[in-house]
Amino acid sequence: MADISELKQQLIEACKFIINTGVMSLSNHGNFSARVPDSDTFLLTAGGSFDSLGPDQIALFQMDGTLLDGAVEPASAEIVEMHGVVYRLRSDMGAAVHTHSPMATSYAVAGQSIPLIYEALARFDMTDGVPLAAYGPRGSRESVDNIAKAIETHTNIGGVLLANHGVLAFGADPMSAARANVIIEEAAILGINAGAIGKAEPIPANMVAYTQRRRDEFASAGVRKAQD
Ligand SMILES: [Zn+2]
Repeated sequence: MADISELKQQLIEACKFIINTGVMSLSNHGNFSARVPDSDTFLLTAGGSFDSLGPDQIALFQMDGTLLDGAVEPASAEIVEMHGVVYRLRSDMGAAVHTHSPMATSYAVAGQSIPLIYEALARFDMTDGVPLAAYGPRGSRESVDNIAKAIETHTNIGGVLLANHGVLAFGADPMSAARANVIIEEAAILGINAGAIGKAEPIPANMVAYTQRRRDEFASAGVRKAQD
């Protein structure tokens, strides 16, 4: 079980990170999950917010939603399937976080996806922008089906917007999922601000691959050091 306690620690760190960035809504409401490697189980924060999260407030679930260990509050019990669907459809994703980040949620309330308007979206492999999943009551079959549809029709994404509700971001590990949520919120802030002074313009389509290639070239060259 050493792996699970390490993974719980990663979840706790990622929750702290995400709170410190300021992307949470006023209530700090959210839930965070992580796939347990080489298993068909995942961990999920058991309360309705990221405040004072400890290892005892993280429960273990089977992919089908069966609770294996811990206890979950009703607010988290409602949304187990919303996390499970990410792991079922994206084998490359190891963590998912749901928040009500206000600017991203504003797009969701307006019924709009976020286009590829911000370079960081491309650098974080979200070249399909942030698609919108149509509304369904939180965690319901309708909501989960709509999330599945958004994930199945967009490959290059790090999250989806949940209409009239919030954000569901994901990544290879808890910190990557937290960063995806932050980038999505930044894109939303910029998109809404740009709309106030003009129009948010997408990155030219013929430049997107170039943006990622340049990122990769510098990353593979490693840290550049001054010569002696
Ligand atoms: Zn929510």
